[in-house]
Amino acid sequence: MTPYPVVIVTPEREMFRGEAQMLILRGTLGDMGVLAHHQPLVTGVEPCVVHLRQSDGEHRLAASGGFLEVRSDGVTLLLEGAEWPEDIDVDRARRALERAEARLSSPGPDVDRPRAQRARLKALARLEVRGQRPESERAHAPAEAGAAHRT
Ligand code: ATP
Repeated sequence: MTPYPVVIVTPEREMFRGEAQMLILRGTLGDMGVLAHHQPLVTGVEPCVVHLRQSDGEHRLAASGGFLEVRSDGVTLLLEGAEWPEDIDVDRARRALERAEARLSSPGPDVDRPRAQRARLKALARLEVRGQRPESERAHAPAEAGAAHRT
């Protein structure tokens, strides 16, 4: 597969600058894979696991949502927040998941459901990147992540 330039940034830091053969993520219109020579586009990104495929294997990061820009000269992923596996506090993510699920299961009008749903997806992405996604939530068997070339 042909590699292409990828930059992944959050407001806090540059997470990655290098080449990838493929990016897989959840866009606002659904799961998508970006290969070299993909048509230019801008789309929203949902809280999800971003799979970064390189010649030496696949690396994953938990993304809190943001935007994807595909240009003819490369791809930029501008994320509200993101963590590589070693950045993730698993207990914190478990607590966030419990809080979000408690909010979603309470019927009251005070619950901001879209916010709770987003918090739930963020927590699940963090747990999945660490191979700790609850069995009941597991849509895909998680692969072990290796160390990407990071900035
Ligand atoms: P919490 O409810 O635990 O604060 P959150 O999803 O509301 O989680 P965010 O607002 O998405 O947190 O993130 C705030 C900052 O904390 C970001 O820098 C993010 O990378 C970091 N962060 C959030 N959760 C975790 C986690 N489980 N492990 C490591 N860093 C985390």
